[in-house]
Amino acid sequence: MSTAVIVMGAAGRMGSTLTRLVAEQNDMNLAGAVERKEAIGALGGLNCPVRADVGALLADTPGAVIVDFTSPEASLATARAAREVGAAHVIGTTGFSAAQKEELETLAAGTPVFWSPNMSVGVNVLLKVLPMLTRLLGESYDLEMVELHHNKKKDAPSGTALRLAECLAEARNWRLEDTARCCREGLIGARPEKEIGIQTVRGGDVVGVHTAYFMGPGERIEVTHQAHSRENFAGGALRAARWLAGQKPGKLYNMQDMLI
Ligand code: NAD
Repeated sequence: MSTAVIVMGAAGRMGSTLTRLVAEQNDMNLAGAVERKEAIGALGGLNCPVRADVGALLADTPGAVIVDFTSPEASLATARAAREVGAAHVIGTTGFSAAQKEELETLAAGTPVFWSPNMSVGVNVLLKVLPMLTRLLGESYDLEMVELHHNKKKDAPSGTALRLAECLAEARNWRLEDTARCCREGLIGARPEKEIGIQTVRGGDVVGVHTAYFMGPGERIEVTHQAHSRENFAGGALRAARWLAGQKPGKLYNMQDMLI
């Protein structure tokens, strides 16, 4: 059975990747694309209805799954429209405030909603695997994290590096706030055992590289995730769309729910 997909923000970086990827899938069809009125002119050559409002598309395509990488306000408005008709809604948008996140959770009680600030399947699998490695190796292994990103990235360390380091800390029953060491300089002395170094490298057009180091007596394990392009996020969102189409409402689903 083919899953009908409506792409929000179709002229955006993620939206345009998604419309292309959906068209390439054997088990999906592009049921519609939504863009702001001002940006709709940038959309050309799409083989589907293009609208500035998701409401009419939802009425025309019952059962369609919405895939949405836009802005927190736009995604919330879409979640309200999805709730009206019970449509499944996959959200990759980041930057929700606590109150906005709470509203999403409330809406998720009435319609299937999935939200992940990192749609990479690989990163989410690492979140499952790294705690196991940490526990199996034991306390004598020092834990470090290094991340590389392009030279335009505004924040450091990346949110993904922080989340990965947090899952290492949790596996040791530590709090990342107490143990993260984001920079070393000068006469720092011996490395404390209860520490997780998080180092940042910036340059060029690197999409994103995260390496977790487990450094023990006489050996070292490195686990690296490399994002090559936005397709890694878009592919994860489409996998979530397929999965969400078969879920009932009740909670705000995330990647960890899907990857059980
Ligand atoms: P972008 O600015 O290139 O695209 C956003 C698009 O949404 C724009 O074309 C904009 O016109 C459109 N838009 C805004 N309001 C709209 C509305 N009301 N209706 C329809 N369209 C609307 O941004 P981007 O790089 O594609 O990222 C979008 C969001 O996804 C950001 O929050 C970003 O942080 C997030 N993101 C998440 C992941 C992830 O893995 N979860 C990966 C990449 C980006």
